[in-house]
Amino acid sequence: MKALVFHKINDVRVENVEDPKIEESRDAIIRVTSTAICGSDLHILDGFVPQMRNMVLGHEFMGIVEEVGSGITNLKKGDRVVVPFPIACGTCYFCTHQWPTQCENSNPNYGPEGGFMDQKGAALFGYTDLYGGYNGGQAEYVRVPYADFGPRIVPDGLTDEQVLFLTDIFPTGWAAADWGRIKGGETVAIFGAGPVGIMAAKSAWLMGAGRVINIDLQPYRLEMARQAANSETILWENQEQVVEEIRSRTEGRGADVCIDAVGMEADRSILDKAKAVFNVEKGTAKVLETCLSAVRRGGVVSVVGVYGSAFDNFPIYKWFDKGVTLMGTQAPVQIYIDHLMKLVQEGKVRLDDIITHTLPLDQAAQGYEIFKKKEDNCVKVVLKP
Ligand code: NAD
Ligand code: ZN
Ligand code: ZN
Repeated sequence: MKALVFHKINDVRVENVEDPKIEESRDAIIRVTSTAICGSDLHILDGFVPQMRNMVLGHEFMGIVEEVGSGITNLKKGDRVVVPFPIACGTCYFCTHQWPTQCENSNPNYGPEGGFMDQKGAALFGYTDLYGGYNGGQAEYVRVPYADFGPRIVPDGLTDEQVLFLTDIFPTGWAAADWGRIKGGETVAIFGAGPVGIMAAKSAWLMGAGRVINIDLQPYRLEMARQAANSETILWENQEQVVEEIRSRTEGRGADVCIDAVGMEADRSILDKAKAVFNVEKGTAKVLETCLSAVRRGGVVSVVGVYGSAFDNFPIYKWFDKGVTLMGTQAPVQIYIDHLMKLVQEGKVRLDDIITHTLPLDQAAQGYEIFKKKEDNCVKVVLKP
């Protein structure tokens, strides 16, 4: 089959690879009909999340069930499904306590026995050996482990474009707003007006926010946030200007909730200079730091932008002094997806309005290029195998 394969930093190619096969009784094989490129994929492309061998990327995908393992009874050949990006067993302590992204069983490369972290946790599709080493869905076919816990059947009458972002960015934006404890009337400042920042804005409104402000470096993305999420906007010039602007719009206090929907992008230049993934000069988590300044005392900073160990200079004094609640991790998609599917089905939210580019899988490498360089006013790229 054809798939988008990561080779090394800034080198991804569409090529022929072996078809995936059922390996475990709870597996399913999905024929992919639509898949998207995510800001998280750029962290691999940039080397922020290191990957040392070739791997099929892609964690936002949906399609038709082609084959199921002997243990799968909830799906059958021909079912049309969307698949959450976290791979989780569904039965361990964390999976049964609302934390599928902390699953103890799905990541063989993570854990006390010489793994990357000192405890087991988190596996993701197409997201490096660090996150379990599973091939992803920017491909014609993909193997889906624990297929009785992740995939959801799509109700009739909904197009791929209407539901594809239930795999990741809508639940991720929703998690960001949920962790922000929005109850009604809050001012929510969202750093980033990329796909995740815009989904966080849509989610904040759905939860009853009083004001939503997106901040970005790119005027065209702020325009998208205005159109797709009815956001107020601030063009980022520098840290001080953004903090001052947010305070001036909130009677000097700061926003009730700040969401970091940027992550490591803010300091890409530092790693570019270091020219290596390991032993790099530490990056400062600039956006997270700005959130801690722009949030009001006693407010919440909610982080869905991805950070790695090269960015762990955390401004602890600001967090402590201001009494800020801080939350962040990979979004537990499985716990939100059914509710969010219903919101889509009832027409309470539209997700497809951020798609700017649809390309055949053959042109996936160009898709990465356009998305990374923000060419042609690109916000979200969908690939069709
Ligand atoms: P993206 O790269 O398209 O968007 C990031 C946006 O941040 C861009 O528009 C960029 O211009 C903007 N930006 C860069 N520096 C900024 C700054 N200093 N201030 C304000 N804006 C700035 O990516 P995306 O797909 O929207 O994803 C955003 C982040 O969310 C990424 O870090 C991605 O890895 C992460 N993510 C996390 C999860 C999760 O489960 N936690 C899921 C999906 C994506
Ligand atoms: Zn994603
Ligand atoms: Zn589990």
